[in-house]
Amino acid sequence: MVQRNKNITKLQAGYLFPEIGRRRRALLEQNPGAKLISLGIGNTTEPLTPHIVTGLKNAAAGLGTLEAYSGYDDDPKGQQLLQDLKAKIAEKLYHGLVSPADVFISDGAKCDCGRLQVLFGGDVSVAVQDPAYPVYVDGSVMAGATGQYNKELGLFDNIVYMSCTPANNFFPDLDSLPPTDLIYFCSPNNPTGAVSTKAQLEKLVDFARRNKSIIIFDAAYAAFIQDEDLPRSIFEIDGSQEVAIEVNSFSKSIGFTGVRLGWTVVPQELTFDDSTPVANDWRRVTGTLFNGASNIAQYGGLAALDEEGLAEMKQTVGYYMENARLIKQALTELSITTYGGTNSPYVWAEFSGRDSWEVFTEILERAHVVTTPGVGFGPSGEGFIRFSAFGHREDVVEATRRLRDKMDW
Ligand code: PLP
Repeated sequence: MVQRNKNITKLQAGYLFPEIGRRRRALLEQNPGAKLISLGIGNTTEPLTPHIVTGLKNAAAGLGTLEAYSGYDDDPKGQQLLQDLKAKIAEKLYHGLVSPADVFISDGAKCDCGRLQVLFGGDVSVAVQDPAYPVYVDGSVMAGATGQYNKELGLFDNIVYMSCTPANNFFPDLDSLPPTDLIYFCSPNNPTGAVSTKAQLEKLVDFARRNKSIIIFDAAYAAFIQDEDLPRSIFEIDGSQEVAIEVNSFSKSIGFTGVRLGWTVVPQELTFDDSTPVANDWRRVTGTLFNGASNIAQYGGLAALDEEGLAEMKQTVGYYMENARLIKQALTELSITTYGGTNSPYVWAEFSGRDSWEVFTEILERAHVVTTPGVGFGPSGEGFIRFSAFGHREDVVEATRRLRDKMDW
């Protein structure tokens, strides 16, 4: 018999979403007619917009012709498409801050987080925001980047949790942190909705430079930033090119969660301790484990970066941001302190001193609204609930009406 991969056996049980599912089913068994509304998911709900759909349709139709057919991206047409998309991302989303040659097209930010873990291997130490999107910790564990398990603390030696709470404005106290090889940092943040300021990111870049760490900056929600003064990319910070990689995605901004398209920026200036460019190894890893993003999706991405496409992106983002505003307003009226939701699609609601699961169950049972308990994203999420703005407007309006009517916080 083959032994299980030891790294996989170290994973904590995938507890959060199965448990939410179990509690949902239990409620439906007790109340068979209940109409549950979910404000708990990160999945997009609104249809793709017309100009982007035309880009996808034309690409699909083109594949049925000899002139436009392309296969793997090493053929000349596939190469041209990749070059065009990289150039347009560098121009329209980074305004020239990054070079097209440093943009690597992918099938999404999550997939690239996984491949980055292959790139760095199991001998690195890692810091993650707490709470955080689960892929950073789970992927690191799968890659073996754990060190020893400390039974007393219930933590792995090589994974440092950077607590991010209202007390520190959701930005870690860097002075108290041990240096690590990698720092996963997500802004706008899932789940807290916090967006780091330029001054905060300058501190982060300075910290990484001093400790010779590499920041893996997840900017999957950058398009949701409304405030012109907030940075949309780590590369807005001077000196970041030597210490940062950025993953990003079309999933949330234009509804490509199912279509699948993203990118990762690995600057040529970023090197390992032997002075070799990280980008060289990244090319090798992606060239081996990944055969390119769908060409249809890439044409969709090109359309999204036309003037019409960018206007549609703004409209899609605006729709979810209005949902976020409605959720935040209802919670504020109920005297709940909220964070996020103004530059991100997540509203992080504080129920100080209470157990996240208990509040989750109370909302589920009384209002028939499904949320996400904050503790599921890490220990510092205890006492918080994540409300997601991804939903149809009528569902969000009805959910907020129920919260107002049924909850007596
Ligand atoms: N990064 C963060 C912070 C996310 O919340 C998500 C999805 O929820 C992703 C990445 C995944 O993005 P993609 O669909 O591009 O894989």
